[in-house]
Parts: sequence; structure tokens; C-alpha cells
Amino acid sequence: MSTSPDYDYVVLGGGSGGIASARRAAAHGAKVALVEKGALGGTCVNVGCVPKKVMWNAAHISEVLHDMKNFGFTGSAEFDWSFIKKRRDAYVQRLNGIYRRNLDGSGITEVQGLGSLTGNPNEVLVTKPDGSTETLSAKNVLLATGGYPSFPPGDGVAEHAISSDGFFELEELPKKAVVVGAGYIAVELAGVLQALGSDVTLVLRKNIALREFDEIISSTLDSEMQRNGIKILRDTGGVASISAEGGKKTVNLQAGGSVTDVDAVIMATGRKPLTGSLNLEEGGVSLAPSGKIAVDDYSATSSPSVFAVGDVCSNVELTPMAIAAGRRLADRLFNGDADAKVSYDLVPTVVFSHPPIGTIGITEAQAKEKYGEANVKVYRSKFANLWYGVFDMAFEDKPVTAMKLVTAGPNEQVVGVHVIGMGADEMMQGFGVAMKMGATKADFDSCVAIHPTASEELVTMA
Ligand code: FAD
Ligand code: NDP
Repeated sequence: MSTSPDYDYVVLGGGSGGIASARRAAAHGAKVALVEKGALGGTCVNVGCVPKKVMWNAAHISEVLHDMKNFGFTGSAEFDWSFIKKRRDAYVQRLNGIYRRNLDGSGITEVQGLGSLTGNPNEVLVTKPDGSTETLSAKNVLLATGGYPSFPPGDGVAEHAISSDGFFELEELPKKAVVVGAGYIAVELAGVLQALGSDVTLVLRKNIALREFDEIISSTLDSEMQRNGIKILRDTGGVASISAEGGKKTVNLQAGGSVTDVDAVIMATGRKPLTGSLNLEEGGVSLAPSGKIAVDDYSATSSPSVFAVGDVCSNVELTPMAIAAGRRLADRLFNGDADAKVSYDLVPTVVFSHPPIGTIGITEAQAKEKYGEANVKVYRSKFANLWYGVFDMAFEDKPVTAMKLVTAGPNEQVVGVHVIGMGADEMMQGFGVAMKMGATKADFDSCVAIHPTASEELVTMA
């Protein structure tokens, strides 16, 4: 075992939070080492946001092609899954290289291997791919090791199902797919597969997907997914078992019934923090009841020199959240910015479902609970996007865009904006800024509408 020179900051995990924090620390003049066991970029770059958005874009093109006859286009187009998979993989590899060059450019030492804590709070042990070990001594240690897809129990589930990681390894489009789950990943992957031509069944443990979102979002998504052809099985209790024969799978449900002849079963039933290899107990780092690393508002753990950011500790599992937490922490530790901490308030988020969802703030139900029913005023709008104006179909058959503004108090401060429909993904960022500034309904209305767009509806609601 060899001892490396001292570092100001040793970061475990080269994903969104770890890289952002390491680079910010280095920019402040800290001597930084970053330990990564896999590919640089973490979940987002390799098996998350980036390859997912590529597939969502492919699915979007498929939808546009489906609509083209309504605009005077004729002809047809074939889709080649292996083409986009190769292009996608190459893009991800390019990003891995860019991340490596960025670390080099910041003067950060990259150490390949699995990092863990030791009994010494200023020490990290790295087990290299060849089995050798190296001890790095550090003034401060950051745990930014992210999470992994968790599978529920059940006979044959681990053996025959894949996670979102496995989705990105698929070499061909599954003809028939079952997606199990009710969160972001389940509705995103179900939407992509259906748009690209799979026969998709979404298996819900309970009654509806995205239960925690505002009711206008979950109910509209439910009907739009069905309009797109996704079959939804409700109140199944989850999967009891999966069996396979001749390459085809049978998914048996807890509440009875099964789905047969399935090519791919994708479990999207949540993620767990990646803490198993960190030796947290010896390192003096406590866990929260959720199983995530317990941190205070300043990303500090129970060990004075050890900090944590991102999915391994946060309940807001989003890339920009991990990045923001990592940067604020580096500002505090290495730039004397004693009050630097991240705010978990009013975090805008987009679900890349079909149609997409953009939401920020609290739901109508949460607002009524928080402010009292009498103090909450809600504005709603449901319409068909102008895109569908020239379609030769009845209004009721057109895809729906639905929006809700939730306001509170006598000055009608906007406390929630919820949008589902074409373009919702690109609508929310600016409204997020307005809400951060405390915008009221009158402020929204004082902004002249941009016409003809769908987002203009948000400043013209009566
Ligand atoms: P990660 O990015 O997971 O990075 C952790 C890194 O630590 C990994 O590279 C891992 O290999 C490494 N590591 C783990 N243990 C060790 C160890 N002991 N030693 C050394 N290295 C270790 N978020 C969005 O904002 N928008 C999206 O559209 C979006 N889409 C997503 C789609 C999918 C399918 C998934 C799964 C997630 C998506 N997310 C999205 C969430 C986002 O990817 C995560 O919130 C984000 O990556 C968390 O960053 P992190 O730094 O905490 O962890
Ligand atoms: P989520 O926690 O969002 O959703 C998982 C859901 O699956 C649960 O809420 C639960 O819903 C359901 N579920 C849990 N166990 C079972 C079971 N045994 N059988 C059937 N259903 C079950 O997890 P995801 O894995 O979808 O995503 C993890 C996180 O990653 C997200 O929360 C998000 O923060 C992030 N992410 C962000 C994206 C984005 O920004 N666009 C995209 C993808 C992920 P119920 O209780 O209703 O059954």
C-alpha cells in the first residue's frame, strides 16, 4: 500500500455532483482527487438523462412522422433501433472524454477504483481495478456515489427483468414490453417504447402513475398514455413472479392475472443510495431512516471532515440538484463562503413522458393543506395545441394540453405551476425564475403573451 500526497478534497464518485464539486473546489485553488469506479459522468451521462433524452428525441420524431400527413407530407420512414443505439453510445463516449479532459484541465487527479472510508476521518482507501489499493489522505472527503435501480422481490424478477440500465443495453426494439413502476422512469420509458413501435403494458402497483404530482398532471397523463396505445394495468400489487420460455417472458401479478409473450420486462420501481461499499460505519457516517446518508443543510455528515451531495443523500434526485449542492459545498469549504448552501425550495422538474410534463412548486392538495382551503385559488386550462388545428379529427380525439396555476393568499402568490402537453419541457425554466422572485398571479398577467404558443396560456388564465 502506498501513500499519496495530501489533498484538500477527495471526492468519491465522478457523476453530476462529484465532478461539479471537484471542479469548483479546484477553481478555488484546492488540491483535488476524484475517485471513480466506472465511467466518468455517472448516472446522468451514461444511463440517465443524456441517453434517455436521445431516445425521447427519437420517439418525438416518430410522433411527428405519424402526424406528417396532416401537413401535406406523404411517404413513410423506417426506424432502425441499432442505428440510434450506436450513435447514442458514441455520443456518451464522447461526453466521457470531455469530462476526462475537463478534470485534467482543472488540475484534478483522477483515480480509477472503488473508494471507501477508513477509521481515519481524513483518509480514503481506493481499491483499483487490478486489486491493488491506494490510501489517499484528505482534509475533506465528499461522498457523491449516487444510486442504483432497486428491484422488488419475486421469483424470477432479478433473473428475467431489466432495469433502466438494461434498457440502454437493448440491441433491438422489444416487440412487446412490460414496464413496471409508477414514477419518472416508468412513464418515460413506457412512452419512448410505445412511440417507437413497441406494444407496451404499464403495470401499476396502485391506481395511477405519478400519484405524488398534481391531480391535473397524473389524470391527464393517464388518459394521454392510453390514447397513445399504452395498456395500463392498475392495482396489481406489483409483480409476483416472472418466468421465461423460449425467449418470451410471462409476468405474473400479485393481484392475479398475467401478461404473456413479453420480450422485455423493465422494472422502474425506484432507486436506492449506493452506500454498500463505503464502509460508512467505520467512517463514522450515519444514515437517515430512508437509508440515504444523513446530511444537514450544508451537506455535512455526522463525521466532521466528510460531506455528501446528490442521490446518495438527497430526496430530490435530479442532476442539477446534485450539481448545485456540490458547487455550494465547494464554495463554502474552499472560498470562505460560510453561508453557501443549496435551496430545495421551488425546484422545477420535467418528466419526459409523452406528452411531457413540467412542474414547479406545490400541488393544489398540498397548498390547501399548507394555507387552508379558503386561502388557495386555482386557475386551470385545458386545450388542444394549435399543432392539431389542421388535423382531420374531432376535438375530443385531439391530444390534450392541461395547465394549472396554484395561488395562495390575498395577493395570489403563485405557489405551483403544473403543465402537461406539447412543449411543456421547454416552458418551465423561466416560470421557475419568476416563482423564485415571488411572482403573483398579477405579475404573470402583467407579462404580454407570446402568440401563438402554448405557454401564453399561463399568462392569460382567468
Ligand atoms: P451519479 O450521477 O449516479 O454519480 C455517482 C458516481 O459515483 C457514479 O459514476 C458511480 O460509478 C460512482 N461511484 C459509486 N460508488 C463509488 C465508490 N465507492 N467509489 C468510486 N466511485 C463510486 N435527472 C435529471 O435532472 N433529468 C433527467 O432527465 C434525468 N433522467 C434520468 C433518467 C434515468 C433513467 C435515471 C436513472 C436518472 C435520471 N435522472 C435525471 C437523475 C440523475 O441521473 C441523478 O439525479 C444524478 O445523476 C445524480 O448525480 P450524483 O452525482 O448524485 O450520482
Ligand atoms: P420513483 O421513486 O420516481 O418512482 C418509483 C415508483 O414506482 C414509486 O413511486 C412507486 O409508485 C412505484 N413502485 C415502487 N415499488 C414498486 C413495486 N414493487 N411494484 C410496482 N411499482 C412500484 O423512481 P424512478 O426509479 O422512476 O426514478 C428515480 C428518480 O430518478 C426519480 O424520482 C427522479 O428524481 C429521477 N429521475 C428524473 C428524471 C427527470 O428529471 N426527467 C427521469 C428519471 C428519473 P406507487 O407507490 O404509486 O406504486
